[in-house]
Amino acid sequence: MTAVRVTFWGVRGTFPAAGAAYARYGGDTMCIEIGCGAITLILDAGSGLRALGAKLNARSRPGRMHVLLSHLHLDHIMGLPHFAPFWRPGADIRVHAAEESIAQECGGPMSIFRPPLFPLDSRHAPANVSLNRFRIGESVAVEKDIIVRSAPVTHQGACCAFIVSAGARTIAYVTDHEHGDAATDRAVAEAVKGADLLIYDATFTDAEMPAHRGWGHSSWEEGLRLKRRSRAKLLALAHHHPDRTDDELDARAEHAADACSDVFFARQGLSLDL
Ligand SMILES: [Zn+2]
Ligand SMILES: [Zn+2]
Repeated sequence: MTAVRVTFWGVRGTFPAAGAAYARYGGDTMCIEIGCGAITLILDAGSGLRALGAKLNARSRPGRMHVLLSHLHLDHIMGLPHFAPFWRPGADIRVHAAEESIAQECGGPMSIFRPPLFPLDSRHAPANVSLNRFRIGESVAVEKDIIVRSAPVTHQGACCAFIVSAGARTIAYVTDHEHGDAATDRAVAEAVKGADLLIYDATFTDAEMPAHRGWGHSSWEEGLRLKRRSRAKLLALAHHHPDRTDDELDARAEHAADACSDVFFARQGLSLDL
């Protein structure tokens, strides 16, 4: 059975954070690598994608890479033009984005990767690049042994969660989701049921939520409640607020560990074998 390795290349939300106060958890925006044999799945293309691209480009054979975009907000696509495999002949890169999100944006996800926003044009990149559109709520066609389902979440504009089943393991990725709509929350809990790893939007605390209703994000405490409701085995809290320092995240991680087992605040650079 193929082992599944999950690596966090970016765990920050909204905007990258730089400086010594953010060094331990890392400042790059959302980007998660799921390695399953020769196949690489990448959940979101935040600024963390740049370092992942350098690693993948160092391979003797680039292999096939799937970049799955939860939505097209800048913090989830800003790494695309800096993904080195685009410039490698023979690399096979498939970008997956929801039809609904493309319809709301002018030009789709690759518009960030051409003038005037970037000096080079992705359409001239030597890699074999394709864009696959899916509808939120449906499966995403990746590889025959890997099943990816998408599920609606509550956010500004079209956005989805991904539930990846690979090598007998299930990884649920729920970011940029504001809890509070009972029907959507129930559907999210059902979609991520029994996941071996649940990655969840922990931008805020419960105490901060009332002042941030409508911002499209959740709290780490809701992550714990969702873990219990869905019986997910391990919870990674992520999409950290760009102002949240390492010390503040340490304090929240301690509270979370007191309240629940098998939970951690995700750090950039961390790898897990599932
Ligand atoms: Zn975000
Ligand atoms: Zn967003």
